[in-house]
Amino acid sequence: MIFHLAKKNRLDRVLAVKLNGRETMLSQAQQRKLPDSFTFSQSSLQDYTDCPRRFQLRYIEQLHWPAVETEPVKENEIRQQEGQLFHRLVQQHLIGLAVEKLSALANTAHLSRWWENYLQADFKLEDARKLTELTLSAPIGESRLMAKYDLVAVQSDGKVVLYDWKTYQKRPRDEWMAARLQTRVYQAMIVQAGAYLNGGVPFEPEGVEMIYWYAESPSAPSHLPYDTTHYKRDWKALTGLTNEIKNHQHFPLTEDERKCAFCMYRSYCNRGIEAGKAGDLEEIPSTGPDANFEQIAEIEY
Ligand code: SF4
Repeated sequence: MIFHLAKKNRLDRVLAVKLNGRETMLSQAQQRKLPDSFTFSQSSLQDYTDCPRRFQLRYIEQLHWPAVETEPVKENEIRQQEGQLFHRLVQQHLIGLAVEKLSALANTAHLSRWWENYLQADFKLEDARKLTELTLSAPIGESRLMAKYDLVAVQSDGKVVLYDWKTYQKRPRDEWMAARLQTRVYQAMIVQAGAYLNGGVPFEPEGVEMIYWYAESPSAPSHLPYDTTHYKRDWKALTGLTNEIKNHQHFPLTEDERKCAFCMYRSYCNRGIEAGKAGDLEEIPSTGPDANFEQIAEIEY
């Protein structure tokens, strides 16, 4: 019974969205609010920054629509699954499972290449304390913010390196990665909430480094340093952003319609029915053909 009611409510919301068309998706009376318990993440903040309407559909309305994000569909679906499996292989390796056993699972062309590249890379982790798939969270403004790291390496000299594995087809520019909300959330959060990993003393921002390692470009990772100025700037900006979203009433559609081609909600928004081509991507969209640990967790909801 409860299931049927929930299904009906969801169907009503879907119909409201589709019938009302482009701009006024739901009446004010019908509009739902972000739950008080909602915890922000880099993915949800990036969604809001890319398109407020996408944030509303995904996190407030919790609508799911089987529109494909990129073409060719099958190839990109397989690549996403391979990306998820690659993250699992690396995580299992880092916690001590035997390479031989894991290598048997790297049984596709992409996976095999990424895995070999990973095994040959020198991450200089010998003396570091390694924490895989670590989640940190902290209060921020009127809300809570969390970060889920692929790998946090705490070094004996008090420095900390945040690793993130990427299976992008194209290596992005360092400037683009530095500006991503993932970078800003991950670096700020380790300073804000990582003291328990450092004997109760907060990490100095100057001792924080984020490394994006690209499985397709293993010898060209992005090294992104940090400092106190950026930490203060980031935490203040993240506080403002989360407060803004929490109190938002209106979630407009993005004016940059190029983003819609790679968005699963484009039919809700009357922004086309055909998926964008992966090869047309200048950069990787936040929900595009890549998966990190946080995205895997969010895909499961
Ligand atoms: S289709 Fe475009 S406007 Fe609609 S949610 Fe996606 S990005 Fe936003």
